[in-house]
Amino acid sequence: MNKMIISFFLILFSTTCSVFAGDVVRGNDLSQREFDNILNESNHMLHKLWNIIDQIIERDVDVYITPQISLGAARGMHSILINPRVFTPNLKNYPEDRLVVVLLHEYGHIVYNRKLNGRTSNRVDHEYAAFKYSVRQASYIAEDGDVGPIRQLIHYLPIRIKNGNRSDPHTIALKELTKERFWLEQLTKYQ
Ligand SMILES: [Zn+2]
Repeated sequence: MNKMIISFFLILFSTTCSVFAGDVVRGNDLSQREFDNILNESNHMLHKLWNIIDQIIERDVDVYITPQISLGAARGMHSILINPRVFTPNLKNYPEDRLVVVLLHEYGHIVYNRKLNGRTSNRVDHEYAAFKYSVRQASYIAEDGDVGPIRQLIHYLPIRIKNGNRSDPHTIALKELTKERFWLEQLTKYQ
């Protein structure tokens, strides 16, 4: 499975691959002990998640583990923040496939920020780009034999539309994305 994920990512990123590699970094407010535990122990339990993290840091991104954010967040063109609870095995409501999707979404923000290269865009466009990126990547993973992440998206994106505030950029972006033929194709294939 991990080999399959690696192969899809390498193909996908071959045109944008950077020679610079980032790292997994201990963020503010996280003890060294907690950080070491995450690196040493979750590695054995969350193979898919770490596989994605490894590929993301190879593309010039530092992944900060910090309790300062609720789950995950992208900053600029080179940083992703993840809450330490992401590395808790069997996290309630967040099976590993959903965490993979969170990481893909945040990296989608990085890809879009790099594309903009300092130009401004509105928040809806940012969320639209990140969601679309995550769906596209999950569809590649599914084509390679692992339907876990795309099924998480198929399950949760409509729920986010239903429960989200109408004026929230995430909700607006998802309404747009889920009308597209690209999304409907995913439903036909993997629902
Ligand atoms: Zn986002």
